[in-house]
Amino acid sequence: MLNKTASRFGQGTWMLEKDDREQAVGALRLGVNLGMTLIDTAEMYGSGRAEEIVGEAIADLRERIFLVSKVLPSNASYDGTRRACDRSLQRLRTDYLDLYLLHWPGAHPIGETMRALESLVKEKKVRQIGVSNFDVAALDEARRALKHEPLACNQVLYHLKDRGIERKLIPYCAQHDIAVMGYSPFGHHTMPKHAALTQVAERRQATVRQVMLAFLARAAFAIPKSGSPEHVRENAGAAALSLTEADVREIDQAFPAPARDVPLGML
Ligand code: NAP
Repeated sequence: MLNKTASRFGQGTWMLEKDDREQAVGALRLGVNLGMTLIDTAEMYGSGRAEEIVGEAIADLRERIFLVSKVLPSNASYDGTRRACDRSLQRLRTDYLDLYLLHWPGAHPIGETMRALESLVKEKKVRQIGVSNFDVAALDEARRALKHEPLACNQVLYHLKDRGIERKLIPYCAQHDIAVMGYSPFGHHTMPKHAALTQVAERRQATVRQVMLAFLARAAFAIPKSGSPEHVRENAGAAALSLTEADVREIDQAFPAPARDVPLGML
């Protein structure tokens, strides 16, 4: 479970370095002021440039932010994880991360990475630890490898056309008090489309994207990325939207969860 400072709707930063820098910084700050205080980044994004943009954006807002970053699997040895964390902290201009994740399962033994993450908690460089792109079997292994800290989060692909995690992964996480953070809520670049979304949006006087976010946030934290203030304003507006049972049913029928187990999706 995540600290209660984590907002249900957060902000992603993958490819943020490709946007106009000043506008991207402004968009992140606007998002924070509109309540999207969870910011998700990673050493991988723009080879550290996304973290630098986040660092600039939150320099005077740090205490309001729930800051998430990730170590690359290729760096996730015991020493490598600790060094990667220090580099991220420097780029982010802070002395702690609220949540530090292993970006996806890699070749370094999971026990070694988890030991490094626990050492970072002990040194107060990291408050909570987790993983990303872990299926149930890998998650179980990671959870059991931890000796002192709970596994707080699994960040996984979750959008309307990829609801596979609802079958086994979300129930497993609920059972073990692991927060599920859904990435690419708009499908990255291929946004799911259906008349049902337009109909629900019209009924609720909301936008289609707000309806999507509200639907997904029933089961997971949602972290849409946007480098545009206009889009950030729209995304933040999803927090005010609560879908009725009829809305949920209609979206569920348009984008059904798979009827059988499927491998964990990943971008
Ligand atoms: P996404 O959030 O599903 O979609 C981002 C795209 O949607 C961008 O092109 C963005 O463009 C556009 N957009 C956002 N809000 C919009 C709005 N209101 N109206 C119109 N367009 C809008 O994709 P994502 O970046 O892949 O996923 C979100 C975050 O999840 C990432 O940034 C990253 O932090 C995380 N993630 C994690 C992993 C992992 O392996 N752990 C993998 C993928 C992503 P503009 O910027 O122009 O608004």
